[in-house]
Amino acid sequence: MAFVTRFAPSPTGPLHLGHAYSAILAYDMARANGGTFLLRIEDIDQSRARPEWEAQIYTDLQWLGLTWETPVMRQSDRMPAYDAALDQLWSMGVLYPCTCTRRDIEAAISAPQEGAVGPDGLIYPGTCRAPALGPRPKNQILRLNIAAVAKLLTFTETGPAHHGTILTSAEAYAQGIGDIVLARRDMGCSYHLSVVVDDAAQGVSHVIRGEDLFEATRIHVLLQNLLGLPTPIYHHHRLIRDDYGKRLAKRDDARALAKYRAEGATPADIRRIFGL
Ligand code: GLU
Repeated sequence: MAFVTRFAPSPTGPLHLGHAYSAILAYDMARANGGTFLLRIEDIDQSRARPEWEAQIYTDLQWLGLTWETPVMRQSDRMPAYDAALDQLWSMGVLYPCTCTRRDIEAAISAPQEGAVGPDGLIYPGTCRAPALGPRPKNQILRLNIAAVAKLLTFTETGPAHHGTILTSAEAYAQGIGDIVLARRDMGCSYHLSVVVDDAAQGVSHVIRGEDLFEATRIHVLLQNLLGLPTPIYHHHRLIRDDYGKRLAKRDDARALAKYRAEGATPADIRRIFGL
């Protein structure tokens, strides 16, 4: 099996140290295994993606000494592939349109502060759940009827926190994830669906990414199973925290890679921060 890793940033702000760690790990693992390192621009959210951030991603990664295959895949070019996946799921009868606002969802959950929270926020109470009829509606929120599709699934995790075979039962899907949104009005397609379709299209064998996406991986494995796509091996790495133990966010400009570069740090210094 070819060893293929990828780094998949969203061009919605500057790359910070956490991104650098993720990209370097994915690059080093590909190199150590005679594999391929890919870069994918996750610009599906066109309201937040900016060309200048995309340009800075290339500059930052080049500065770090990373090289990647070209052409680079960009999610904004991939709508036909996401549409085909949505059609496939719609024809299986496992999607349904949803008209609930966030407020509707909160109102339907008697005590929202006690409502179960999954990787996508509050677990949807199922208000709009109904059999899918007719052609797939476009420009509509479509949810996955999780109770209809959930089953026992596993994936292999090689990251430090959850090493081993990870199991998710049908019950855990229903209670811990719920009917997630797969098509959005604004973006056409949700992150979960696009990432699964693209990892398969690019033949990604090892997904290396931050621990914050560990819980969402259960969704990805379910979608792979439904769409007949292979499940890669996952490696969720530790998150790089700031001096106060807080997770880094794009808005923390102080930790932007460009800032370290401007202050005279070298790529070797950056690797040293991570112990790499
Ligand atoms: N695009 C996502 C992000 O910027 C990462 C997706 C992934 O690695 O699966 O956080």
